Amino acid sequence: MSQTQRDGDTTMDDTLDLQDAAARAKAHAALAEQIESHRAAYYKDDSPLVSDAEYDELSRRLEALEEKYPELVTDSSPTQTVGGSVDTTTFSPVTHIGRMYSLDNVFDFAELREWYDRVSGAVSAESKFLCELKIDGLAVNLLYRDGELVRAATRGDGRIGEDITANVRTISDIPQHLDTEFPPAEVEIRGEVFFPIEAFAELNAQLVAEGKPPFANPRNSAAGSLRQKDPAVTASRPLHMLVHGIAAWAPADASHPEPKEQSEVYEQFRSWGLPISEYYKVLEAVEEIEEFISYYGEHRHDVSHEIDGIVVKIDDFAVQEALGYTSRAPRWATAFKYPPEEVTTKLLDIQVQVGRTGRVTPFAVMEPVTVAGSTVERATLHNGYEVKRKGVLIGDTVTLRKAGDVIPEVLGPVVAARDGSEREFVMPTHCPSCGTLLGEQKEGDKDVRCPNAQSCPAQVTNRIFYLASRAAFDIEALGEEAALALTAPAEPATPPLSSEAGLFDLTPDDLADVKIWRNKRVKGVETGERELVPYFYTRGTAKKPSAPSQNTKKLFAELDKARDQDLWRVLVALSIRHVGPTAARTLAAHFHSLDAIREASLEELSAVDGIGETIAASIRDWFTVDWHLEIVDRWRAAGVRMEDEVGETAPQTLAGLTIVATGSLSTFTRDGIKEAILAAGGKAASSVSKKTDYVVAGENAGSKLEKAESLGVPVLDEDGFRTLLATGSLA
Ligand code: NAD
Repeated sequence: MSQTQRDGDTTMDDTLDLQDAAARAKAHAALAEQIESHRAAYYKDDSPLVSDAEYDELSRRLEALEEKYPELVTDSSPTQTVGGSVDTTTFSPVTHIGRMYSLDNVFDFAELREWYDRVSGAVSAESKFLCELKIDGLAVNLLYRDGELVRAATRGDGRIGEDITANVRTISDIPQHLDTEFPPAEVEIRGEVFFPIEAFAELNAQLVAEGKPPFANPRNSAAGSLRQKDPAVTASRPLHMLVHGIAAWAPADASHPEPKEQSEVYEQFRSWGLPISEYYKVLEAVEEIEEFISYYGEHRHDVSHEIDGIVVKIDDFAVQEALGYTSRAPRWATAFKYPPEEVTTKLLDIQVQVGRTGRVTPFAVMEPVTVAGSTVERATLHNGYEVKRKGVLIGDTVTLRKAGDVIPEVLGPVVAARDGSEREFVMPTHCPSCGTLLGEQKEGDKDVRCPNAQSCPAQVTNRIFYLASRAAFDIEALGEEAALALTAPAEPATPPLSSEAGLFDLTPDDLADVKIWRNKRVKGVETGERELVPYFYTRGTAKKPSAPSQNTKKLFAELDKARDQDLWRVLVALSIRHVGPTAARTLAAHFHSLDAIREASLEELSAVDGIGETIAASIRDWFTVDWHLEIVDRWRAAGVRMEDEVGETAPQTLAGLTIVATGSLSTFTRDGIKEAILAAGGKAASSVSKKTDYVVAGENAGSKLEKAESLGVPVLDEDGFRTLLATGSLA
C-alpha cells in the first residue's frame, strides 16, 4: 500500500471523475501541494517522506489530471517546474548560466516508442541515440573559467541553485583544473554526485553512533553529505561524481569550436580529466535501445552506485536544439525508469527467532508491501548491533529495498515521518523459546546464541526441519509445519520428539494425538476463528475412524528411504557446525564411514583436501558431546546406514576443479549438474572469477558466459563436460 493510499487521499480515478470545475481545481491544488511538500522534504531536508515510486505515482496523477483538464495547468504547477528549492539560510544563491532541466519519464517500451516516434520527425535516418545509466544521485553544476573550477551549485529550481563550491572541492573525482592546453573560456558541466552503495550502511552506523539521524537511502546520503554547512564533513564522506551534460560553452578561440555531439563532449570530458561513466553507448535502432535498457535492468547491481533508469539522449546537438525544451525538461531526451526496488512501509514490530544453531536473530515485521514483484512483510535484521546501526525504531516508516531475487533489506528509517510514538528495540537477554540466558559464543561476537542446544524447542524444531531438507535426508513430508507439530504441538503436552535422536524410532501410533491450531474454514472459506485439529491423522467420523493421513504415510515411507541414504547426507543431517553438503561429501569420499570420521584425529581430519582446521575442530568437538553420540547410536539402532560401500563413491574426476554451469542444458537440470560436479569431487561455484577452471555453457547462457570469455576461462559445451566428468580430462 502506498503512503498516499494510507493517507486516505483521493485515488486517480476519483480525481479524474470529478465533474464539477471547483472540485477539480480543489483536487488539483491539493495534489500539487502534496507534491510540493514532498519536494521540500526531498530536496531541502534530504529526508523524503515517501519512496520515489510513490512520489512518481502522485506526479503521474497530476499529469493525467492536467491532460484531461488542460485549464488546470498553471506556470507554477509541479508538472511545469523543476523540483527543488534553495536554502538561502545555509547557502548563497547562484544563478546558473544555462538552465538546468529535469527529464521526462517513460515507464515501459510502449511509452519509449511513443517518445521515439514523436522525436523521429526531427531526427534523420542516421540519427544516433546516446544511452546511459540514470544515476540516482543529486544534480550538480560545475562552472569552469579558463579551465579553473570557479563555482559549483546544486540544481535548485533549475535557474537558481545553492553555492556548494567549498563542499564540491573536497570530492577527489572532480578536477580543480581541466587537463587541456586550450580550455574553453567558460563552460558549465553538469553531472550527478552519488554515494557508493557499499559505503552507505557504514555511514548510517557512524551517524547513529554519533547520536545523529541516519539516512533513508544512498541518494539522500549523497545530498545530505554534500549540502553540509561545514565542508570538512563533506570531505569525510566517500562522494563521487559522474558528468553527463554541458551548457554555456564559450570556446577558447575560433580554432576550438564547440563539439557537435553529446558523445564527442563525453570524450572531450574524459581527456580533460573529468569523471565519465564507463557504461554509455551510442545506438541507432529503437530495438538496440530496448536491448540496452533490458541489459542494465538485469545488471543494475553490477554498478557501484544506484541507478533508477536509463537516459536516452539524441546525440546530435543540432537536433537537440531543433527539438528544444518544455518548461521542465528537454524534448530531445527521456528517462526510462526501472520498476522500483525501494519502497517505504511501516515497521510494525521487531521480533526475534532462534535458529538451528541457536543464533537469535531479530527480524522486522512490516506492513505488507509490494517491491520488485513480490510482497514483503518480513526482513532479517541480523543481530542487535545491526538494528542499532540502522537506527530503526519500532513504529518507524522505513525504506525497504528488494533487488530482484535478492533478500529484502531494511535500509533505514524515514526520520522525518516520526511522531514520537516510536520505541527502541531491546534485544532479549533470555531465549524466547526456552528461557535460557543468552550469550555470545566467543567474546566479541555480534550474534547472541541460546546455549541450550540439546533441548531448546526452537533449535530442535529447526534442526529437524533442516535434516529433512533436500541437502540432507530429503524428506519432503517433513516440512516446517510438520517439524513444529513433532516438537511443539498444541497437544499433547509431551511432544512426540524432544530431540532428533528419536526420529527413526517414531511409529504412526506416536502421532495419533498430535494436534495443532489452524484457522477454521467452512467450505474452504476462513471464518476468522481458530480450531484444534489433528496434524498427522485424518479427523475421523463415526463411520470412518481417524487414521494416518496420506502425508503421514508418505513421511514414514520417506523415513524408511532415509535409513539407506548416502553417508554425506547423514553427516549433513547431524547439524555439525561448518559441515555443509560440500564438506560432508569430501569427508564421506575420504573416510567412507561415520565411525572412521569419529575416530580420526584433528590432524587426520584437517589433512583432507578441502577440510581445514575449522571444520576439523568442529567435528572433533561435536563427537565429544554425549547427547550428540546418543543421536548417532539411536539412528544406527533404528537402521540408519552410516557408511558408504567402498567403490560406491563416484570416481573423483573433478577433484580440485571449480566449475560454473550456466544456461539451460539438455541432459542436466540446474541441480543435477551441481550434483554431478560435487559427486565427482569438484566445486560447483555460482559466479565466474579468475579462479574458475571451466564454465559449462548451455543454451541462452548470458553474463556468466561473457565474463568467462572476457577472463579467458575455458568454456565447455555439454559434451565437453561429459568427457571431463567421465575421464578427468578433455582429450
Ligand atoms: P529525475 O530524477 O527523474 O531526472 C532528472 C535528473 O536526472 C537530472 O536533473 C539529472 O540530474 C539526473 N540524471 C541522472 N543521470 C543522468 C544522466 N545520465 N543524464 C542526464 N541526467 C541524469 O527528475 P528530477 O526532477 O530530478 O526528480 C524527480 C525524481 O526525484 C522523482 O521521479 C523521484 O524519483 C525523485 N523525488 C522523490 C521525492 C520523494 O519524496 N521521494 C521527491 C521529489 C523527487
